Amino acid sequence: KKETWNRLVHESTVTKDGKRVELAANIGNPQEAAQALASGAEAVGLFRTEFLYMGRDQFPTEDEQFEAYKAAAQAMGGRPVVIRTLDIGGDKELSYLSLPKELNPFLGYRAIRLCLDRPELFRTQLRALLRASVYGNIKIMYPMIATLGELRRANRMLEEAKEELQRNQIPFQTDLKVGIMIEVPAAAMIADQLAKEVDFFSIGTNDLIQYMMAADRMNEQVSYLYDPYHPAVLRMIRQVIQAAHQEGKWVGMCGEMAGEEAAIPILLGLGLDEFSMSAVSILRSRHLLKQLDHSEMRAVAEHVLSMENGEEIRAYIKEQVLSKL
Ligand code: PEP
Ligand code: MG
Repeated sequence: KKETWNRLVHESTVTKDGKRVELAANIGNPQEAAQALASGAEAVGLFRTEFLYMGRDQFPTEDEQFEAYKAAAQAMGGRPVVIRTLDIGGDKELSYLSLPKELNPFLGYRAIRLCLDRPELFRTQLRALLRASVYGNIKIMYPMIATLGELRRANRMLEEAKEELQRNQIPFQTDLKVGIMIEVPAAAMIADQLAKEVDFFSIGTNDLIQYMMAADRMNEQVSYLYDPYHPAVLRMIRQVIQAAHQEGKWVGMCGEMAGEEAAIPILLGLGLDEFSMSAVSILRSRHLLKQLDHSEMRAVAEHVLSMENGEEIRAYIKEQVLSKL
């Protein structure tokens, strides 16, 4: 099995009936980019930048960040590298940043909310990203967007950073692509509006599921609710993909769900363009996708979305799709 997979390292990901999708890796530091490539990644679909800020006693400087982003971009040799701006807060704390104690940290001051409130912090990261953008194919992604207003404010700060660099004759990629994570249900509901103002979406199911189901992703006692296959979750994913495609924008997924064997046939059927996962899952997923028929999976996806619960859906995929391969 491993040998069959290993032969797929340098192949593109094309279904049996010729539909091309992209298999990307989630990474947490620039060193992991090389591993991702060796594991068959066609891109980096999520570079979590928190590592730069954690385990130290002060904010990383613009130059430190620049070097890290540049290294990831260069390691990927022109392949796309989606870099997510700082997603701190929630459960992730920094010793040198005192945040107010909150009753519901996951519903509180985190990610883009914190960055928009601390422009100096956000500006430093945006400048570093822009400077690194000439060394490869970097795309910027904002986490936790819930409103058009947040997206516009973040983009305005990006424009200001560009103008500042331009004034100082510091080069950057002028048509840098900018996307957002869809991980707040409100954003999914207004995906048609958001799609008009971004270049791409990446669905963050780790958070989207917990917010949709009102079930903490870490809480074992309510884990029965934390179900990627719940019809509500699948319908929301369908809606997000349709809204993006309506505007000619691509949609990825960078939550754990994107690498799940039983989810991949459904996501393919719903039209997902990019699957981003931990590097170790890439070859297994490519092997699976190459055996699937896109038009068949469209029918399968429509069928399972009318079912009543996640167990039924998972069982159907196992019996009617996976076991027949
Ligand atoms: C997600 O929420 O699905 C995601 C990819 O982001 P994180 O797991 O870093 O919150
Ligand atoms: Mg998230």
